[in-house]
Amino acid sequence: MKKILSAVLALCLALSCIVPAFARDADACGCGKTPILVVSGMGALPFWLDEGTPEQTECFPPHPDIPKLVFRALGGLFRSVVTFDLKPFANTAADIALDILGVMACDADGNSLYAVTPVLVEGAMSTYDPSQYEDAGSAEFSIVNSAVRAVGADHAYFYNYDWRLDPLSNAKDLDAYIDRVLRETGHDKVRVVAISMGGVQTMAYLEKYGHDKIETIWFMSAAYCGLLFVTNIFTGEIQFSQQSFFSWLQTLDVGKSDKTDKAFDAFFGWCGRTALLRPLFTLLNNTADKVNSIVVDRVIRRTLSTMPGMWAFVRDDRYEEAKKAMLPENASDKFVERIDAYHYDVLNRREEILKDAQADGVEIAVISHYNKGCVPVTSSAQAHGDSLIETVCTSGGATVADYGSTLPADYTQKACKEHNHLSADGVIDASTCMFPDTTWFIKNMPHVGCNRGSAFADMLVWLFSQEHVPTVFADARYPQFLETDSRTQMTLEPVK
Ligand SMILES: [Zn+2]
Ligand SMILES: [Zn+2]
Repeated sequence: MKKILSAVLALCLALSCIVPAFARDADACGCGKTPILVVSGMGALPFWLDEGTPEQTECFPPHPDIPKLVFRALGGLFRSVVTFDLKPFANTAADIALDILGVMACDADGNSLYAVTPVLVEGAMSTYDPSQYEDAGSAEFSIVNSAVRAVGADHAYFYNYDWRLDPLSNAKDLDAYIDRVLRETGHDKVRVVAISMGGVQTMAYLEKYGHDKIETIWFMSAAYCGLLFVTNIFTGEIQFSQQSFFSWLQTLDVGKSDKTDKAFDAFFGWCGRTALLRPLFTLLNNTADKVNSIVVDRVIRRTLSTMPGMWAFVRDDRYEEAKKAMLPENASDKFVERIDAYHYDVLNRREEILKDAQADGVEIAVISHYNKGCVPVTSSAQAHGDSLIETVCTSGGATVADYGSTLPADYTQKACKEHNHLSADGVIDASTCMFPDTTWFIKNMPHVGCNRGSAFADMLVWLFSQEHVPTVFADARYPQFLETDSRTQMTLEPVK
């Protein structure tokens, strides 16, 4: 009898352990493929003005009347040439910029000033007609397409949000979206692809809601370490270098074919060197203060610096200086509180936040780009980048030679002595990155570059299909330093 009783008791005990487990797993998916959530950057989807009213219009990205715009710009340029003073042209340029960007401004507390709202994507990609994302021109949807190929359209999601606003306030919405993904797919974790500004949004989420629902984070062209050129602009440091300006134009590959591209390349190369253009750049720099104050006072203070999201880009060393330079004297406490919270609790603590997540099993990988130059209006124009964000920022701290040069001949790798982390072209030491063994560099790839059908899109399918984040040593096809062809960006070869 005792035996039977203890057997029953043991059975009850065992059942009491199993039943809750059954209950929890009742609607679990069991497919073994964790859903992927792509957290978008700034340019993927447009914004509405007066959404849901008869006056609804698309207000961003701008669709300016180009001939009218050129006519206006030429008017200002003509007045500048006649008076040999850059002010009229700078004022006209400021008017044009305000007409385009003004609608995106935020109010004193950092909320949207006008009835401006982003287009949102609701539900898994399987709820959309594939043509809506398969043929979309945006590189971000090409990345989504790679996620669909890796885990299926019912396990691939795209999250969009108002990137102008405070990332920490937005984090609540991202948390609700992650819950929706988990509920709909029956999984208990997501894998996040943080693209460009999506890096900022993901970091704010981690700080506020932790990493319990996150299995993997892939940072791609991501702004999680700030941006050098925004930091410089926000501290009022505008600088023009003839050589940097034209080498940046070269990296944009404006030609429509190899032949015209080569012609533009040669032309911009000549422009960068010729003494003929030197007086123009001397004039630009001599009047840089004047031009700067027009651009800053009339445009940046009324648009970009009203957006808490833009302050997330300002780097640690010059943040307080930027606040002094850019915020009005009567700045609202709420606004300062918001930008300080992101800066001090998230950006400055990024390594701690990510290393904590990693210690708890979250796997982190980074895809960075180089050899595309940087926005050539500040001293950071000398840095390597992806045409927009500097490589040192997107890579999470690589040591990078100046654009057009290499690390010194006697340079030795700074850390991780068991692997080689130096690029064969002598430009990058990846050993100083936060995650040196899971950080890839794609040479010649522009910011958020990913072309449909390209070798890079295939690499992402490979990456998104792995059960665990592989290291840069795991597959000979995908070593740490890869190179794509500059114009079409369809190929992928190890950097030689
Ligand atoms: Zn599943
Ligand atoms: Zn290593």
